[in-house]
Amino acid sequence: MIETYIRDIPDFPKPGIIFKDITPLLQSPDGLRESIAGLQAACDPSSYDVICGIESRGFIFGTALAHAVGKGFIPIRKPGKLPHETISETYELEYGSDTVEIHSDAVQPGERVLMVDDLLATGGTMSAALNLVRRIGGEITACAFVIELGFLGGREKLGDVEIHSLMNVE
Ligand code: AMP
Repeated sequence: MIETYIRDIPDFPKPGIIFKDITPLLQSPDGLRESIAGLQAACDPSSYDVICGIESRGFIFGTALAHAVGKGFIPIRKPGKLPHETISETYELEYGSDTVEIHSDAVQPGERVLMVDDLLATGGTMSAALNLVRRIGGEITACAFVIELGFLGGREKLGDVEIHSLMNVE
């Protein structure tokens, strides 16, 4: 059970937020294996060509899954981190805004992309990531998360894309 490896940290990083700490899951050989196997089972590897993960915890699960299924990995990063030509998307947060970037040549036109992040909250981050991949010609096959905070309704922000999560907090 994935749930048993997730630690709730109240009021982190600010008051009112219950932070889902995945470090016990990563630290546990069984937890790590179970989470990657769960993502692999949820998303048929024949349905996508490449995996795209969002900095930074999306890198951990996305890369491990890519390795497990024999695919490549594309990073979406915070601004100023990618060295080649990039495009960016800015999205609104409760207070302020955030930006994510991808290399403009990261996907081939029509390439089928599985999107991976650790957690779906309001959906703002993944929604911006979907825009980035589509703008450079990628075809999104599905989004996969270890944790979904269902009570925040992030799914609605992602349109009609297929969404998989290993655990849902309603
Ligand atoms: P959102 O854009 O609101 O869907 O937020 C998703 C991103 O923020 C993910 O990359 C998560 O790692 C992080 N995040 C948001 N809320 C939490 C939370 N309660 N616990 C842990 N990570 C979170």
